Amino acid sequence: MATAYCMKCRKKVEIKNPKQVALRNNSLAVQGVCSVCGAKVFRIGKA
Ligand SMILES: [Zn+2]
Repeated sequence: MATAYCMKCRKKVEIKNPKQVALRNNSLAVQGVCSVCGAKVFRIGKA
């Protein structure tokens, strides 16, 4: 399960609907929504 830091919850949360995305510089990131509050979360790195 992918995790990311949620700015709203101020803690690490599970990423709901994690999606692997490529940044402009071709590095990978994971984008999804916080499983706790539903805010968008983002993490640099592989899923
Ligand atoms: Zn949250």
